[in-house]
Amino acid sequence: MTARLIDGKAVAAAERQKCRERVEALKREQGVTPGLAVIMVGSNPASAVYVRNKMRACEDVGIRSERFLLPETSTEDDVIRLIERLKADPDVDGILVQLPLPKHYNIERVLGTIPAEKDVDGFHLYNVGGLVVGGTVFPPCTPYGVMRLLEHEGISVIGRNAVVVGASNIVGKPMALMLMQHEATVSVCHAKTRDLAQYTVLADILVVAAGCPNLITGPMVRKDAVVIDVGINRLPSGELVGDCDFEGVSKRASFITPVPGGVGPMTVTMLLVNTINSAARSAAARDAAGASKSLLGAV
Ligand code: NAP
Repeated sequence: MTARLIDGKAVAAAERQKCRERVEALKREQGVTPGLAVIMVGSNPASAVYVRNKMRACEDVGIRSERFLLPETSTEDDVIRLIERLKADPDVDGILVQLPLPKHYNIERVLGTIPAEKDVDGFHLYNVGGLVVGGTVFPPCTPYGVMRLLEHEGISVIGRNAVVVGASNIVGKPMALMLMQHEATVSVCHAKTRDLAQYTVLADILVVAAGCPNLITGPMVRKDAVVIDVGINRLPSGELVGDCDFEGVSKRASFITPVPGGVGPMTVTMLLVNTINSAARSAAARDAAGASKSLLGAV
């Protein structure tokens, strides 16, 4: 059997159409255009491509986006001052700091300056904590995109064995927490896990986010498992591949995401969803504040 492909591009296109409609409605009904501020420090070429893609995606659905490009010589305090300014700007619904930052920066301090209600990347401690106890304002985009893909394919995770390979703060850990929130039984593996295959063969749902080409081969996958390959690796030949040996794994899995064209398009799309949700929340809060003021005026 060959696995069914989960077409992330098609799912992302459908989600973006919904985004377009929501932005139109916000403009029409509340006079609000969602706004995203993207901060980039230095000139890392990969980061420049990611930032450009995010801004194009915003434009595509009608979100206003602005890029703040700071030179490599900028200090951590320069970035924090900029965030403080954007924090106070009512036209900015989302603030995103493109990672990686220069090595000597204290990333937690920089990300912690973004207020939770504008943290559309979902990296603020409040948003991360919300994944544990509930109440997350913005789920981090990549795992959120994976959950949306599963939902779109009608794949329930309730009571199923989910194995996440990779335990980073931005992908693996929030992925595991989201799967747990949706009542999967979750195992998390990382670089020091002994005998990775003993875990992966138990997975009904296997999410791989390690950044190692060919880490997962066919025999490591349970028959009919759902395999989500988050990895993006550029081979010396220039080819872009995931973390799975696609050919071997797709012979055993029931569903698989391709690389490229699987999780990648969903990550940017969920950033749009978070930014629109932020704008909608702020508009609702402004309306509520306006209504209570006029009630007070009537007393
Ligand atoms: P990261 O910060 O480097 O984390 C990698 C994680 O994988 C770590 O937890 C590491 O373990 C674990 N790991 C590394 N080698 C392993 C091995 N041989 N066996 C088991 N676990 C191993 O990377 P990341 O930011 O999470 O990204 C992971 C991959 O996803 C990368 O390829 C990245 O490009 C891709 N990515 C894709 C998207 C998308 O939209 N598709 C978004 C974000 C990231 P330790 O914790 O023990 O070091």
